[in-house]
Amino acid sequence: MFSYRHAFHAGNHADVLKHITLLATMRHLMQKEAGITLIDTHSGAGLYRLDGDYSQKGAEAEDGLFKLLAALEKLDSIPEPIEDYLEQISSFNPNGQARIYPGSPFLMQRLMRHESRDRLRLFELHPTDSKSLMSNIAQLDAGRSITVSREDGFEALKKLLPPPASATGSKRAMVLIDPSYEIKSDYSKVASVIQDYLKRFSTGTYLVWYPIIPRPEAHELPRRLRTLSNQAQKPWLNATLAIGRGPGDEGGLVASGMFVINPPFTLKDQIRKALDVVGPALARGTGKSWQVESS
Ligand code: SAM
Repeated sequence: MFSYRHAFHAGNHADVLKHITLLATMRHLMQKEAGITLIDTHSGAGLYRLDGDYSQKGAEAEDGLFKLLAALEKLDSIPEPIEDYLEQISSFNPNGQARIYPGSPFLMQRLMRHESRDRLRLFELHPTDSKSLMSNIAQLDAGRSITVSREDGFEALKKLLPPPASATGSKRAMVLIDPSYEIKSDYSKVASVIQDYLKRFSTGTYLVWYPIIPRPEAHELPRRLRTLSNQAQKPWLNATLAIGRGPGDEGGLVASGMFVINPPFTLKDQIRKALDVVGPALARGTGKSWQVESS
């Protein structure tokens, strides 16, 4: 059984990069009238307490969201993608203090258009987290427009691609693939499913989060994704954020990336502007870097 629980990591630097990129991508996709199928293959529990037992253990939001919030107090203007991210978090915290952190399913549901236009399909395999996700989503009363399944997200997605046509006849999908990489085979699995998904539905927007750690398979993953996108003649974007390691600060994830296939044309500029603020705000030691490259 998996031991990874996202509650230990909610609001950390990797979530900051992942969720800013996710929201900026969605903002653009939502400008088109036609409905879209939104899929989160590895959803987690959906909502996390930043003052609860799990997050306190790692206190990872201290090096992520909270550090960003403190740095922003000194700025006169905040880039739009960061502002959007913080506004979404605020909407879950009406009392002002950030106690609840919305994970990807809740950020996606905030931006989707209900009126039966968009559909959100969520997958989570962990027994406890899938139960929490189901009860968190049930409170939204969203009916069939949002579904939660305790299934392997990699496999389940195959049944959803290509997505059904919207009322205007167009087929659109955005997929977030955010595994915990607890199992070494997750790295090759991501590459092989992306190859398959691009065959099934080549115009979908695919966002893959990956850790940057000293393991050959982790190092190889963004390269493989780049090759697969180039082979399929699809544009891509790769955003990375390394906060660096401070003295006496061992272990723990300090860098990650978001690889986006078929990104909106606006994304590169948006993420670059966001990272120009997020990077210096979260950087803390040797090895810090942030960049966006694209095809
Ligand atoms: N996407 C979430 C967010 O941004 O808020 C965080 C997800 S967390 C990094 C990864 C989740 O994937 C964990 O909750 C884990 O239990 C789940 N998981 C692992 N393997 C899975 C699989 N094959 N299918 C679906 N969920 C899986």
